[in-house]
Amino acid sequence: LQKQAILKQQFSTSIQVNTSNSEMLVVKSILRRAIEQALFRQFYIEYQPQIDLKTGHIFGAEALLRWQSPELGIVATSELISLAESTGLIIPIGEWVLQSVCEQNKAWRDAGYSPLRIAVNLSARQFTHPDLSQKIVTFLTQNNLEPHYLELELTESLIVQDINMVIATMNELRSLGVTIAIDDFGTGQSSLMYLKKLPINKLKIDRYFIHNINCDLQKAAITTALIQMGHNLNLQVIAEGVETEEELDFLRQHRCDAMQGFLFSRPIPAVEFEKFLSDDQYQSLRQR
Ligand code: C2E
Ligand code: MG
Ligand code: MG
Ligand code: MG
Repeated sequence: LQKQAILKQQFSTSIQVNTSNSEMLVVKSILRRAIEQALFRQFYIEYQPQIDLKTGHIFGAEALLRWQSPELGIVATSELISLAESTGLIIPIGEWVLQSVCEQNKAWRDAGYSPLRIAVNLSARQFTHPDLSQKIVTFLTQNNLEPHYLELELTESLIVQDINMVIATMNELRSLGVTIAIDDFGTGQSSLMYLKKLPINKLKIDRYFIHNINCDLQKAAITTALIQMGHNLNLQVIAEGVETEEELDFLRQHRCDAMQGFLFSRPIPAVEFEKFLSDDQYQSLRQR
C-alpha cells in the first residue's frame, strides 16, 4: 500500500524518470488488471471542441483518453499511452476509445445536435494492427454513422516506418470514407515529400508553433508557411494549443481554417461538452 501511495504521487505528477523498472512493472500490472477486471469503468473520454474560424462555430471535437485508477489516481495521458503501447494494451484500449466515440457521436446526433466530426488519436501500433479497418467499419455501422464524421489523428512518427505499408493502410482507411489528420505537424521527422504521397485531409499544426506566436517571428514565419502549404495541397489546417486572443488573431489573419485550445475550452467530459452543443451562448467564438 505504501508503495502504491508513492507510485500514485509519482505517477499523477507524471514523472517517469524517477520510476524504477520494478515500479513500472507494478504500474503495468495495475493497468492490465484495470482492463481485464474493471471492464473499462476506470477509463473515460474527454472532448475538446474544435472551432471553425470562418463561422466561429464548433464543428467537431478531439477525443482524449483519461484513466482514473483507484490505486494511482488520475494518470497523465502521455504516461498512460506509453504504458499501453509498451504492453500492447493499446489495442483493446484503442478499440474501446473508437467504439465509445462512435456511440457518443450517435447519441449526440440522436439528441438532435448538428453532426460532429470527432477525432480519435491512433498510435503506430494500432495503425499497423490488421483488424483496424474491420473494427472501424463495425463501429460505424453499429452506430449508423457516416464515415467522414470519424477522424483519425496520426503522427509523423508513423510515417518514418515502412512508407509503402503506411500508404496502403491509409488508402484502405480513406476508402472507408473516414477523415485522416496528421497530428503535431512540424515536430516530427518526416519529409515534406510524403505529404504529397499520403491520402490525408488535414494538418494539425503542433502547439509548439502556436505558443506565443505573436511575439516570435520565426514561429510566425513557419506557421504562415504551413497554412499556405496546407491550402495549396488542398488540406484543411487546424491549430492546436491556442491559449490567447493574440494567438487567435494571428491565426484568423493568416486564414487558418480551425482552432482548438484552452482559450475556447479545455478537454471536458461528454456531459459538459453537451452544454456547448445545447447552449447558443457558448456555441460560438464570435460571441465571446
Ligand atoms: P495530442 O493528440 O497532441 O493532444 C493534444 C494535447 O494537448 C492533449 O493532451 C490536450 O489536453 C492538450 N491541449 C489541448 N489544448 C491545449 C492548450 O491550449 N494548451 C496546452 N498546453 N495543451 C493543450 P493530453 O490529453 O494529455 O494527451 C496527450 C497525448 O496523448 C495526445 O496528444 C495524444 O497523442 C495521446 N492520446 C490521448 N488520447 C489518446 C487515445 O485515445 N489514443 C492514443 N493512441 N493516444 C491518445
Ligand atoms: Mg491529437
Ligand atoms: Mg496534437
Ligand atoms: Mg501531442
